[in-house]
Amino acid sequence: MNMTDASLFDYREFTSDCDGPRLLITAGIHGDEYLPMLAVKELIDRFDTDAELRSSLRGSLTLIPIANQAAFERGNRCGADNIDLARVFPGTPNGNPTEQLACALSDQIRRADFFVDLHTGGTELCVFPMAGYTLHSDQSILEQQRQLAVAFGLPFVWGTSAELQGRSLSLARDCGVPAIYVEYLGAHRELAEAISGAAQSRTPDHPLVAGCLNVMRHLGILPEIAEPLPAACDVVEDERPGAGHMQAGPSAPATGFLVPAVELGQSIAKGDLLAEIVTATDRTKHQVLSQQSGRVLVIRDYPRINQGEAVAVVAESVKAE
Ligand SMILES: [Zn+2]
Repeated sequence: MNMTDASLFDYREFTSDCDGPRLLITAGIHGDEYLPMLAVKELIDRFDTDAELRSSLRGSLTLIPIANQAAFERGNRCGADNIDLARVFPGTPNGNPTEQLACALSDQIRRADFFVDLHTGGTELCVFPMAGYTLHSDQSILEQQRQLAVAFGLPFVWGTSAELQGRSLSLARDCGVPAIYVEYLGAHRELAEAISGAAQSRTPDHPLVAGCLNVMRHLGILPEIAEPLPAACDVVEDERPGAGHMQAGPSAPATGFLVPAVELGQSIAKGDLLAEIVTATDRTKHQVLSQQSGRVLVIRDYPRINQGEAVAVVAESVKAE
């Protein structure tokens, strides 16, 4: 069986006669993360229509705009089998539909020299714009990942434990492909941004489009251009198990309406108020306090929360050397 089953997802490959690395960029591993899909479609459009850009390419570029078509069609994080694609890598050719999809995507990751996986917080979470990577045990891969994450050009860079399993980056880690993931806001805020962006001209590039082009230039897939250095970003590396898990944070003590008390990206201290939860039945207020000092990386964006669900994620200020 050919594991690169094109019927499982659409992708475009742009190749050059000149030697260079093979870069894979994916969006839509989760079906409710829209802005990355638009960004990758925009990149496809540019390479299709701009002959000069195409002729300046070295190596190859594989672009997958909507990796999880079944989930996208449902407007949901997951497809009809309700399995999170980002928990079942490397998948299996004989498994359920999501495991088969993971298997086909894994084949693309194995073929790549570098891999960028684009995400957002989806319909429930909102994530401070950031690029992340695993703290790989191979120092050369770790350094390449660090450089890719910084080159992308978003304000926060987060290196976290390499222990998490089932992710696209877990497979990249296991087959030695330097890889980063990117998070950019969530469906509620990203959509407003995408619509207003579409109403304007193409300049300036959306940060996700610009970030992918920055990575291509960093890798020599596109020629360097003279432009101001990106603003310095905040780099945090945190080796503790569980760090980097977007759903791991202080959980809601009750089911109710969520009223955030912090802004995304804000620095807070341990014990500060993160949010209040107001129960729908008797309007009792429950406070959720931060268990760490650091920067608010994720807050739940959807106004209803169930008891036990994560309210926010705070990245502790552990500086990389
Ligand atoms: Zn995602």
